[in-house]
Amino acid sequence: MTPLGALALARGTVDRVAENRSDQDWLDAAWKNPRTRVLVVSGGRALVRLDNEHAELVFVPPPEAPAGLRMLLGQDADGVVYFGVNGELPPADALPPADALPPADAGQRPDVRAASLREVGSLLGDRDAGLLTHAVALANWHDTHTCCPLDGTPTVAAPGGHSTVCPKDGSEHFPRTDPAVIMLVTDPDDRCLLARNAAWPGRRVSILAGFVDPGESAEQAVVREVAEETGIKVNNVQYLGSQPWPMPRSLMLGFRADAPAGQVISVDHDELAEADWFSRDELLAAIKAGQIAFPPSISNPRHIIESWFGAPLPSTWTESAPSAPAAPTS
Ligand SMILES: [Zn+2]
Repeated sequence: MTPLGALALARGTVDRVAENRSDQDWLDAAWKNPRTRVLVVSGGRALVRLDNEHAELVFVPPPEAPAGLRMLLGQDADGVVYFGVNGELPPADALPPADALPPADAGQRPDVRAASLREVGSLLGDRDAGLLTHAVALANWHDTHTCCPLDGTPTVAAPGGHSTVCPKDGSEHFPRTDPAVIMLVTDPDDRCLLARNAAWPGRRVSILAGFVDPGESAEQAVVREVAEETGIKVNNVQYLGSQPWPMPRSLMLGFRADAPAGQVISVDHDELAEADWFSRDELLAAIKAGQIAFPPSISNPRHIIESWFGAPLPSTWTESAPSAPAAPTS
């Protein structure tokens, strides 16, 4: 099995120019530059132009940005600076028409609407996927970390929006990310362990997942989570790849692990409805019989399962369902 390629939310072409985050003069000059583009995010959503299988972010010039926290996202190879603003989304019907549209398509304006990473993450190009993931991750942190954890004083954001400071004790606070592990477990016959979360409706199955405990390595978390959820002991834990999953603040770390022979699955029914081994043939038969469906293509688990399977899989959860496709189960 090869390491994962570029996952949907692990893309980006814009240099984060972290060295400029605390340079107020640089930030002020960039904000005044008419070439600068602002991505407004609100509650994990931004405005996008949707055109069949393609989506692009809708930016506004700085003077049209709403009030809200400013976050420096980066600068592209042409020198254009991108900011995020955590504020009210502009009304879609007040936006200028898509300048990228060829004249022949002028009468067929693509749909402009607010959308989340989950909805459009895999439809965006590399630049826009990176910008939206970055902006949503930062905004989610600001939305939920408004006070100093030491004394409860409301904090003040640093100029570039990448940290906050407590005005009372001077302590600095940085964005938080929760590491989670997602693991493909195979037995000596190269069968894959798939499970259905107790909170998931219908035919949804995926590989096992869980959050890393405090003071625990990612590899230790893989071993512990598989044992807790299925009673299976694993070894030979190998890292595959990662992607940010800022819904609200995870980093999904993909692994594979081996389950030695002679073990019996014992499902933890607090977390899982069922778990079983699937050969590739059994997997295909279950899909064809309508018995199982897999997470959407934006998610790590989907890529990891397909990497083991050796080809794209034909079955996908529908996005309208309420539960999180790749959220850990504990
Ligand atoms: Zn404080």
